Amino acid sequence: MKQSVAYLTPYIEAEKTANARQSKGKILLATVKGDVHDIGKNIVGVVLGCNNFDIIDLGVMVPAATILKQAQEHQVDIIGLSGLITPSLDEMVHVAAEMERLGFSIPLLIGGATTSRTHTAVKIEPAYTGPVIHVLDASRAVAVASALLGEDENVRSNYLLDIRQAYAQIREQRAGRNSHKSYLSLAEARANKLQLDWNSYSPPVPAHPGIHVFDTIDLEVLVDYIDWTPFFSSWQLAGKYPDILQDEIVGTEAQKLFNDARSMLRRIIDEQWLKAKAVVGLFPANSDEDDIVLYEDATRTTERMRLHHLRQQARKAAGRPNLCLADYIAPANSPLTDYMGAFAVTAGIGIEEHVARFEAAHDDYNAILLKSLADRLAEALAEYMHEKVRKELWGYATDETLDNTALIGEAYRGIRPAPGYPACPEHTEKGLLWALLEVEQHTGMRLTESYAMYPAASVSGWYFAHPQATYFAVNKGIQADQVADYARRKGMTEATAAKWLATVMQDA
Ligand code: SAH
Repeated sequence: MKQSVAYLTPYIEAEKTANARQSKGKILLATVKGDVHDIGKNIVGVVLGCNNFDIIDLGVMVPAATILKQAQEHQVDIIGLSGLITPSLDEMVHVAAEMERLGFSIPLLIGGATTSRTHTAVKIEPAYTGPVIHVLDASRAVAVASALLGEDENVRSNYLLDIRQAYAQIREQRAGRNSHKSYLSLAEARANKLQLDWNSYSPPVPAHPGIHVFDTIDLEVLVDYIDWTPFFSSWQLAGKYPDILQDEIVGTEAQKLFNDARSMLRRIIDEQWLKAKAVVGLFPANSDEDDIVLYEDATRTTERMRLHHLRQQARKAAGRPNLCLADYIAPANSPLTDYMGAFAVTAGIGIEEHVARFEAAHDDYNAILLKSLADRLAEALAEYMHEKVRKELWGYATDETLDNTALIGEAYRGIRPAPGYPACPEHTEKGLLWALLEVEQHTGMRLTESYAMYPAASVSGWYFAHPQATYFAVNKGIQADQVADYARRKGMTEATAAKWLATVMQDA
């Protein structure tokens, strides 16, 4: 296994004397309940393993009680938690509080895309009196673990003191932060919405409205739609494909990884390791303030579903609108029947048995490679389906001819914002998307209690066709008035809405 992760050597303080192996300590790794993030955590595990730490990886969607019970049973020296989606932040605070309640004192490491030094300092550290440290990426994990478990007591206490002081400072800065940003009331923000010229717009009518299921996707066609750059970053190799293959520092390792990826991709396709499925739907729609109403048919007499969006509330420079995705759909009080779409795609069906096969052979490298390729195929399928929608199903861009680079560069008309991402950061709307398209029945994809998608190699989102539709971020500007309004529209209590909106509220 050491051989096969050689590409990580820039990040590994390589342990050359393999036979003189002495454990530097035991580290438990887990992705928290409700979350399926795995690859980054797996890589951290491999890197630490290569540096003589013993790793106990509990996998994904692990409840706090299991994490803490296993930590006690195995008498681990460190617990590392990982998460990808924002609801996991709360779950990490919960694990920290449970560690406190149960009298733990071992270090707690926090990592994964959704985590941050600020959140760790402001929300997690205050819940636990033991050391809490945010680990930026796998390359830092060895240094942190070594400092925490090293023999030199001085190094350790100085390191911890530095971290404690830095985190305390972050909390102080936030507490004393005189909000230099100014915010609008929700009513003012709505008054400054994006005003598209609906009088001169005729919404394209889908050639094939309604729901379409694709349950025998040919993986071969997806290969040309793969965006390889995120593949390399998932392996901690920074740089743009294809230049990265010639990179002075990581070029050789990137090329080797790429060769391995291409040959595994061949086997995935030829031996049918994975199945991909997709469901898309196109529906008549109008906006109603910040909601989007979907109708049963173009007569717009019966509501099918109501989607809820959030509006930017930070005060903008003159002439800049306070955006909300609903602004891209013709309003209900206009004569226009507009349309919008939804999609859910996966390339992860059947992955478990192959991952298990590699893991049984202690072949972490190929287990991770397979997961990262499944992710790439899912993103490629999202790209492929979007193109199919533009050119055939909706059919507003029948003449479009874009190559892979242009597709990755989003040179086409329309966007596909994904719930949980910055324009629509609230995850529970995925529940509506699942109901709208009957995603689980059609594809087997399901949502966890935190609204993560399972299998992990899945993508879902909305389709907007307006030529002026662009991505934006709702950001940390949501005020109490919008939380209350959103709660009312969603039929949630304000407390529940505040929980789901925690990361986009002003004082988050
Ligand atoms: N080619 C990339 C595509 C994924 S990242 C890959 O293979 O990994 C781009 C996607 O993220 C977009 O298609 C959209 O679904 C989502 N996205 C990006 N910015 C967004 C935003 N501000 N709001 C909502 N979704 C966003």
